[in-house]
Amino acid sequence: MTLVSDRVVKIVPLGLSDAGLMMALAGELERTFPFSYRIGTDEKMPVDALDGMRGQYHATRILEHLVASDRTAFRILGVTSFDIFTPILQYIFGEAMLGGRAALVSTYRLGTVPFEGVVPCRHAVFVDRVIKEGIHELGHTFGLTHCDDHHCVMTASLTVGDIDEKSTQMCYYCQMAFKDELARAGIAQS
Ligand SMILES: [Zn+2]
Ligand SMILES: [Zn+2]
Repeated sequence: MTLVSDRVVKIVPLGLSDAGLMMALAGELERTFPFSYRIGTDEKMPVDALDGMRGQYHATRILEHLVASDRTAFRILGVTSFDIFTPILQYIFGEAMLGGRAALVSTYRLGTVPFEGVVPCRHAVFVDRVIKEGIHELGHTFGLTHCDDHHCVMTASLTVGDIDEKSTQMCYYCQMAFKDELARAGIAQS
């Protein structure tokens, strides 16, 4: 796909200092979503998003914070090392505004932090999971919903095993839906 260079996707590390991971993520995102990527400096987690009882951060509040923090970026993808949740789920790997501007991925449960039930994985596997979840959540901001194809990056993942099973690629139908969304939004690929 041809690059739409005037649309900037900002990647915002939140409590996460890993330039190599951010570069790898930006590179893979660009292969799927042909925009320009800018990696911001590491920011603190918004304090008001912390649920003290759960010891986790409320994902929706972080998305609201990201949107308010940058009024010009085409899309904003937050990547946090902290554990995130939505009220109906114990934990989530990521969250996004469907058809909106902000998306969020948490690396907390993707493998390098030992916690109940998951053994630490190789770094390459961890990076791969972050990339897949980054593509998945950013895909939601383009209106893409969950896909029934288990190898498609837009399939829903409840466990890291689910993530490992899917690819970094969108299936044909999700690719078509993404192209339709670009056309609908009046974004011409030159
Ligand atoms: Zn999803
Ligand atoms: Zn799909």
